[in-house]
Amino acid sequence: MFDNLSDKLDKALHVLKGHGSITEVNVAETLKEVRRALLDADVNFKTAKEFTNTVKEKALGQNVLTTLQPGQLMVKLVKDELTELMGGETAGINLSGTPTVILMSGLQGSGKTTFSGKLANYLKTKKTKKPLLVACDIYRPAAINQLHVVGDQIGVEVYSEPENKNPVQIAQNAIAHAKQNGFNVVIVDTAGRLAIDEAMMTEIANVHKAINPHETLFVVDAMTGQDAVNTAKTFNERLNFDGVVLTKLDGDTRGGAAISIKSVVDKPIKFIGTGEKMDAIDVFHPARMADRILGMGDVVSLVERAQEQFDEEEARKLQKKIAKNQFGFDDFLSQIQQVKKMGSMKDLVGMIPGAGKALKDVDIDDDAFKGIEAIIHSMTPTERTQPSVINGSRKKRIAKGSGTSVQQVNQLLKQFDQMSKMMKMMQSGGGRKMMQAMGK
Ligand code: GDP
Repeated sequence: MFDNLSDKLDKALHVLKGHGSITEVNVAETLKEVRRALLDADVNFKTAKEFTNTVKEKALGQNVLTTLQPGQLMVKLVKDELTELMGGETAGINLSGTPTVILMSGLQGSGKTTFSGKLANYLKTKKTKKPLLVACDIYRPAAINQLHVVGDQIGVEVYSEPENKNPVQIAQNAIAHAKQNGFNVVIVDTAGRLAIDEAMMTEIANVHKAINPHETLFVVDAMTGQDAVNTAKTFNERLNFDGVVLTKLDGDTRGGAAISIKSVVDKPIKFIGTGEKMDAIDVFHPARMADRILGMGDVVSLVERAQEQFDEEEARKLQKKIAKNQFGFDDFLSQIQQVKKMGSMKDLVGMIPGAGKALKDVDIDDDAFKGIEAIIHSMTPTERTQPSVINGSRKKRIAKGSGTSVQQVNQLLKQFDQMSKMMKMMQSGGGRKMMQAMGK
């Protein structure tokens, strides 16, 4: 995410390294580079200019700060200002009302339908809500089907009236249906065109007026850069929406939209989409995003994701097994599956401070576990619980069955053995013994 921008900002801020104090000259030089980096990332010209002017004023004003290195001070100023620019505080969504009505707006292809599903899934699992999805696209039967497919996938009911050509009526009927059937959130997915046109704007404005949503979200594809910002402006003029959803941040986006949208429309980014799957949704946190842009990682999100997947009951069982020396390959497999649930490997690595940059050119693919999983799947139940029985001929059979080599099987067995020993040590003697073992 935003690799290029991170790289360029890093280079720009390095200019100040080695200088004893912040002077007007070296600040100007650094900020010229920062501005260039922002413009290259497709940040709006006015926004980039205002950004660097504010940082400059603050930097010169803080000349007295001698405790920090100038380079560090600039990084902090840039980080704080980036955070401000992206909205400062995290903006929540309004879940009041019975039911809460949420209206989705945006162009076709922006990711509205996908996001409607993600949001329903998020509200259902995290906020224990009972959402209803509503298909209000009266032009494309395929769009209605798409929402039904999404709904089936996440186990959420979808309301549609394929024969009705009046979106206002459909939305109103859906809300009545929700009230009668105990749904407490109604997510209305609307039709989108390839470009903004008057008829479409009038249609969504009518739906908006008729259902008076608690939350109107504007969904936009982050890959479209400046266009995203312009479309946001047009929709905001008509709908006065409450928040923005930036999708496709997992792609090769330059980041401009994320940085400029708040300052242009003065509406916060509330969620981001980071993939096609239903769980690829994140609440947008400006400060954490600024950290990521500046290559400082995002440990908080990483820990949160780990916690989400953490199952206390499972952990206790695992601990018992380790204590009894019963940790086997099946347990290993379920550990891998837990890690995989946390998100894509590349995304996770990007959250580790420094790692994103260091491993920028390394091809981290999610198939990294595939070989390991295949090997374990080719083992018999006995081999999984008692790896010591795996002799030469068994290794050959496992390699053949998993499409790997005996060498790879050996490697996994060795890693597993080391891991088991380490776990045992952690259980019995605490960290000291382990450190000794590792030092050897
Ligand atoms: P709509 O026309 O606005 O309803 O857009 P869709 O929800 O149909 O999405 C258009 C395409 O973008 C689909 O192929 C989605 O799978 C894809 N998409 C949506 N959100 C994301 C995202 O966050 N990341 C990626 N990589 N693809 C996405």
